[in-house]
Amino acid sequence: MTWGACLVACPAWVTAQTSLPTLGDGSELTASAERRLGERIVRALYRDPEHIDDPVLADYVQGILQALLGAARAGGTLSPEIDERFAWDILLSRDRTVNAFALPGGYLGVHLGLIGLTSTRDELASVLAHELSHVTQRHISRLITDQDRQTPLLLGAMLLGALAASKNPAATQALVVGGQALVLQNQLNFSRTMEREADRMGYGLMAPAGFAPQGFVGMFDKLQQANRLNDNGSWPYLRSHPLTTERIADMQARIPPGQATAQPPTLEHTLIAARARVLASPGVDALRQWIAEPQATGFASQPVPRRAAALYAAALASNQLRDAAGARAAARALDDLLRDEPAARRLGRLLNAEIELAAGDGDAALAALPEGSARRPELLLRMQALLHAGRPGEGTAALQTWIVVHPGDASAWQLLASAWQALGQPLRAVRAEAEAHAARCDYGAALDRFRAGQDLARRSTAAADHIEASIIDIRLRAMESLLREQAAER
Ligand SMILES: [Zn+2]
Repeated sequence: MTWGACLVACPAWVTAQTSLPTLGDGSELTASAERRLGERIVRALYRDPEHIDDPVLADYVQGILQALLGAARAGGTLSPEIDERFAWDILLSRDRTVNAFALPGGYLGVHLGLIGLTSTRDELASVLAHELSHVTQRHISRLITDQDRQTPLLLGAMLLGALAASKNPAATQALVVGGQALVLQNQLNFSRTMEREADRMGYGLMAPAGFAPQGFVGMFDKLQQANRLNDNGSWPYLRSHPLTTERIADMQARIPPGQATAQPPTLEHTLIAARARVLASPGVDALRQWIAEPQATGFASQPVPRRAAALYAAALASNQLRDAAGARAAARALDDLLRDEPAARRLGRLLNAEIELAAGDGDAALAALPEGSARRPELLLRMQALLHAGRPGEGTAALQTWIVVHPGDASAWQLLASAWQALGQPLRAVRAEAEAHAARCDYGAALDRFRAGQDLARRSTAAADHIEASIIDIRLRAMESLLREQAAER
């Protein structure tokens, strides 16, 4: 748990508590101001060592979010202004604790611990639907602008909510230095009314978005079970979202009679949850236990989902321990179980590609990936494989097409930078590096790289570089203006 670590690296954070974007006379924070505030927060989160852009998990969670956004749009609960201005980005953390939170500007934070705990896609969707509703209902902006509250304290609590659970003494120190030691006792606490509203609005998004509303009840059951145990610090979500009997009763009452039973989990979700548990870096001992599980007596008689999850975890854990042979053996056994479910089979193929990549065999990784897929995990893995195989030129067109639609994809820019570098195109490489920084909201670092690009362009005589140079000029000015805006808000 070190979301907080970034605070130490970034002392500007502590002062950010007292440097709010200019507010009017208690009116709502504008959508743009809230987005900029969010950008300042996520810039620190992106730098956190616990931050992980795992394309497979990110694709899955983003798919759920997009479905919910579609439902909110169609149902009129997402205003066009918010829809356009907010980021709708999800930041994953390797953190093993169970937590999810909404940040200003349409950024959602999700811990792998929460994903690993869910049994169904619907349960995960219920958490995202709730958090999304906090955002669409402008709860954050209302909290920030609420005149009855101590604004800087609240904002600090929000920025650093996760920090309260941090075991990182250095981060705690940073807070005390900032003079806001009180923040440590507070999470971002929405009011009960806001919680109820987020539950109800979130619930209303489920069916239209294609999820079983029972997911809410399933998730509440899990939270309730944890509630009965002593809170050992691994359930921050329960602290920010106290599970009242009222909340449970309210949701249960909404399920139509006869539909109370949960949907069976898909194999796809079972594998995703297993992936989250392994990537939450639980340590070598846990990895070894996962590797050993398929060898246990009686394993063959376990139900298919259980075996599939165990084999997926074993393959991934072997991969983490750099045991390619073990990973391949588990992945082969897994393939046999996934025949009937295309979405799970796809995860099996991506796993195979990952294993071959880790083994350094770019061609074998490419063989595991379908050609021409425009989905993000396939695109990113394919480019990595092409780089390994020494043929990055074959992947740049697809990646550039992707980036036109998703200019905020830092990992895609970073891969493109490596590809241009390998292809002897230093100017394009520098620009892609700059864009990767900009995508992580680090405009200062982006400006730095754009300037390096300008220098490079001045020395270049290639005609193609001329176009690239003018793009760099435009982007450099954009970064300067973003930095000026940020400075004005201090
Ligand atoms: Zn909430």
